[in-house]
Amino acid sequence: MSIAILRLDLAGQPRGWCSPEQAATAYVKGDVSWTLGDPAIILHGGVQRISGRQSLLEIPPIIAMRGRVVGSFSLSLNNKALFRRDQHICLYCGHETHRSLLTRDHVIPVSRGGRDVWANCVSACKSCNNRKGDRTPEEADMPLLAVPFTPNPWEYTFLERDRILGDQMEYLRQQFSDHRNWSRVA
Ligand SMILES: [Zn+2]
Repeated sequence: MSIAILRLDLAGQPRGWCSPEQAATAYVKGDVSWTLGDPAIILHGGVQRISGRQSLLEIPPIIAMRGRVVGSFSLSLNNKALFRRDQHICLYCGHETHRSLLTRDHVIPVSRGGRDVWANCVSACKSCNNRKGDRTPEEADMPLLAVPFTPNPWEYTFLERDRILGDQMEYLRQQFSDHRNWSRVA
């Protein structure tokens, strides 16, 4: 998987990931205010006409953007991040399950007014999801092993990607809550 660059706003809040090429463009345009970490990747630029040398651009793993960050950033619920939040464990039977066999379970079923939000969704294996059906955990006598929570921007940014560089992990983990044993997910 390719390397992604962690994008921050001026205040240091995570604003998602971008490609090294997008980071280079922002850098050249003067949109990068400050950076953190050792160079993550070196991009080859054009050949300079006079010297004949090819220019090199070192891209740091973390860049902070000047002004308003372009591009939307929302903590949107998606299965990949949800399953990573729950460490690929079914929150009903406790079995670690491959992501292809996990499902998104609504703790309070949607048909009963439950919302499709982080705090009402958990990872569940197919058999637990089927067994629970259209019931609440209490009705099904299937207590949750952990309380579902909404990740903060640092946690969400971490959950979004499988491959994270050391400097990026170090930066993000500063704001991890104690909801989970986060080191296990990495
Ligand atoms: Zn299960």
